Amino acid sequence: MRATDKGPHPGVVVIGGGFTGLAAAYQLCLEGIRVTVVEQGAETGGLARSFEVESGDRLECFYHHWFTNDRHIMALIRELQAEDEVILRQTRTSIYFSHRIYRLATPSDLLRFAALSLLDRVRLGWLVMRVRMVGNWRALEKLSAEAWLKRLGGHEVYRVVWEPLLRGKFGDLAPEVSAVWIWNKLKLRGGSRGKDGAERLAYFRGGFRALVQRMEQAIVSRGGQILTGTIATGLQLTRGRVTAVATNQGTLPADAVIVTPALPVVARLMGAHLSAEQLASYARIKYLANVCLILELDRRLSDSYWLNVNDSSFPFVGVIEHTNFEAPAQYGGRSIVYLSRYLPADHSHFGLDDDATLEHCLPYLSVIFPQFRRDWIVKHHVWRARYAQPVVTKDYSAFIPALRSPIEGVYLASMAQIYPEDRGTNYAVRDGRAAAAVVAAWLRDHCY
Ligand SMILES: Cc1cc2nc3c(=O)[nH]c(=O)nc-3n(C[C@H](O)[C@H](O)[C@H](O)COP(=O)(O)OP(=O)(O)OC[C@H]3O[C@@H](n4cnc5c(N)ncnc54)[C@H](O)[C@@H]3O)c2cc1C
Repeated sequence: MRATDKGPHPGVVVIGGGFTGLAAAYQLCLEGIRVTVVEQGAETGGLARSFEVESGDRLECFYHHWFTNDRHIMALIRELQAEDEVILRQTRTSIYFSHRIYRLATPSDLLRFAALSLLDRVRLGWLVMRVRMVGNWRALEKLSAEAWLKRLGGHEVYRVVWEPLLRGKFGDLAPEVSAVWIWNKLKLRGGSRGKDGAERLAYFRGGFRALVQRMEQAIVSRGGQILTGTIATGLQLTRGRVTAVATNQGTLPADAVIVTPALPVVARLMGAHLSAEQLASYARIKYLANVCLILELDRRLSDSYWLNVNDSSFPFVGVIEHTNFEAPAQYGGRSIVYLSRYLPADHSHFGLDDDATLEHCLPYLSVIFPQFRRDWIVKHHVWRARYAQPVVTKDYSAFIPALRSPIEGVYLASMAQIYPEDRGTNYAVRDGRAAAAVVAAWLRDHCY
């Protein structure tokens, strides 16, 4: 290990180089603590990582943007003096239902939403307003999203608008999803609107990769280390306290460890040192996987940025035309379209190869966009994530593992601990930094 000017202590090893891990490492650097990030992938970024499209430009493997109220990531960006790189734009959201595309970007679009009767449109509008008035989310913890949405908007609004979305995203797990999850989603999206009611979203110039690089620079310039291609395989303890992280590249001494991957990975890493009961507590939260098919097209597909596919028989729940936010010129003139699907990891479609995934999706895309022709596709890519979305069920707060793990010196900051908000880079930054601050205080009390 490279020596730094931070004294004889090995410092903190952060497992995982996603937004949580990088934010934790950055905060530890600010606290004056030596830090080493280990990331199994060839690059950092985690679920917000990027790849090279045909033109050589970088694009997220899974579509990413921020809401205007994502204040933790915006604060970090300001600290990195990169606020000029944030791009804010109005976006257009639409919904595909019963063979038609309806624009649903503004309150007046909602009034024109002919898939519902006038009375149900008013109910839907009321629901959207009512959601923002919820003060005590804990009162929703025992309710399913289905029960709550039906109560607020009635059965028809649920059937047309919410059921296909919940089914499309969570499949058979949809009835288990908590009212807290949908409440927070609607509240956040509703809060990212301008005075005219139209949604505004944010992105980083050069993509999320450019921000990840800024975070890396901020860590390395303060003496931190980032080891990519390094897989943590276990923890070593001395008298019940962590002293090292075992990796495929050797052993890294550690005064403390922050573990950021998904809980099943955490359980594997810590398994040898935990009781069966403790291990079981890390297995209580279910995750969905995600498959994103990305099409590089030689022309525009639609005029929407975000199209919800309200038909759960389709093999994707959203069509995100990224180049209706960032211009195609950023990607060699190509239009970039993501088809996103959430599914259980044991679903046969999660294992389909790239070409089979394309073949499976194309007929459905042609149903939504009859003008679409296969020869518009210049290139396609498929990205898969095993742990893409924790399933936020009723009484979720009872299942969330604590930041402080049962092993002395080991702290957890994993996506599934974000609550009542849902996962997102904004909360990854918040929780990563918060975990680092706790670890820094603990180290000062116990080691330094
Ligand atoms: C389809 C999709 C769309 C999304 N859209 C948005 C969006 O628009 N806006 C937004 O803010 N968020 C979005 N998110 C969520 C966002 O990507 C995540 O909340 C965030 O990136 C999670 O960061 P993390 O560091 O907590 O976890 P991860 O990104 O999962 O990072 C964990 C890291 O740990 C590494 N790792 C795992 N095991 C080991 C090991 N044994 N040793 C070393 N390293 C290991 C992994 O390789 C990974 O890099 C989206 C997610 C998905 C799947």
